[in-house]
Amino acid sequence: MELLSAACDSGRLSHAYLFHGPDGVGKETTALELARALNCSESGGESGCVCRACRMTANLSHPDIHLIFPAPRDIKADARAGIIASYIRDGYRDEDFGRKSAIVSVESVLSEVVGKANQRPYVGPWKAFIIADADRMTTEAANTLLKTLEEPPEMTVIILTTSRPTALPATVVSRCQRIPFSRLDAGTIEDILLSDPRLGFDAKRAKAAAILARGSAGRAVRTEKEGLEAELERVASIIQGRKIRDVRSLADEASALAFRLGRQEQQKILDLMLLWFRDVLVLSQWDEIGRPPEVLYARHRKVLEEQAHALDFATLGRLIEKLDEARQAIERYSNPTIVFTSVLLDMAVARKRAGITRGAGYAA
Ligand SMILES: [Zn+2]
Repeated sequence: MELLSAACDSGRLSHAYLFHGPDGVGKETTALELARALNCSESGGESGCVCRACRMTANLSHPDIHLIFPAPRDIKADARAGIIASYIRDGYRDEDFGRKSAIVSVESVLSEVVGKANQRPYVGPWKAFIIADADRMTTEAANTLLKTLEEPPEMTVIILTTSRPTALPATVVSRCQRIPFSRLDAGTIEDILLSDPRLGFDAKRAKAAAILARGSAGRAVRTEKEGLEAELERVASIIQGRKIRDVRSLADEASALAFRLGRQEQQKILDLMLLWFRDVLVLSQWDEIGRPPEVLYARHRKVLEEQAHALDFATLGRLIEKLDEARQAIERYSNPTIVFTSVLLDMAVARKRAGITRGAGYAA
C-alpha cells in the first residue's frame, strides 16, 4: 500500500477509490487503515497509534468514518451490529452474509453517504465512506452514489471495495482510482495470522492455515475456526485407508468424497493430503536435517515415520504430483468421482507396494 501512503503524504489523495480483488485479502482493512491514517491526530498517522481518533476508528465509532455494507433489507438492528463487529474483529473476513439477499440499498447510500458527505465533519479533518462489496449496490443506489462521485465534497474520500469490479456500472468505475489487490502468498498470510493475537494462532497452526488458505487470509481464519484438528483426523483416516478393504469400499469412499462435499471442500481435502505427504517427505529427510522435524499431523507421527521409511522418494514425489494434479482437475470441474478414485487407488497401491499394513491393507 505504498501507493496509498505516498498519496496520503503528498496530499494528492483521490476523491474516490475502487479497491478490487479477491475476498479475504484485506481490501476493507486497508480502506479503514487509510481512513484512520487521514484522521489520526498524531502527525505521523502511524499504524498502531492509540490517539482518540485512531481508537474510535478501530472500533468503528468514529463519527466521520462510515462503513456501508450489503445487508438484507429487513435486517434487524442486532444482526447489523453483529456484522459491524465482525468487520472490527477480523478485517480479513470473507464471510458471506447471506449474499443472495444482501444489497446496498439506495436508502443506505442516501442516508449514509449523500446526507453525510455534505455535512461538515464532526471531528475530522476527513470524512471517509467505505462501501464494502460495492457490486451489491442496487442500480438506484449506484446512480445515487454517482452524483456524489461526480461532485465530490471537499475533504471527503469514498472507497468502494469489490471482488467483482465488472459487476459495477462503468460510470461508477470511471470516477474512481482503481487499486488492484491480489492474492496473498502463504508467508504474508502467516505474518498476518501471527500479528494479531486476537486470532489466537501459534506458529505451526498459522503455517498450516496459511498454506490451506490459497491467497485469502480470511479463509485462513475460517479454516481455523472450522476446526483444523477435526479436518486433519478425517484426512489421516482417508490416507491410512481405514475404510478401504477392497475395490468396492475404495469406490464407496471416492463417491462419498465426490458427492457429499462441495468443490472447495474437496480441494481442501486434497490440500490436506498434500500436507500429509509433505510431512512424510520431511521425516524421510530427517537424517539429513539432524534433528526431529516438526510435523503438522503430530498425532500420527508413528504412521508418518513408518511411511517415511517404507515409501521411496520417487513414489512420494509421484503421490505429491498426483495430488497437485487432482486439485487442478477439481478446479477445472473435472468429474470428482474419477479424481478421487484415482487418488485413492494410487495411495492404496503405494501402501501395498511398500508393504504398509497399518490401517487396513488393500487386498487387491
Ligand atoms: Zn492516531
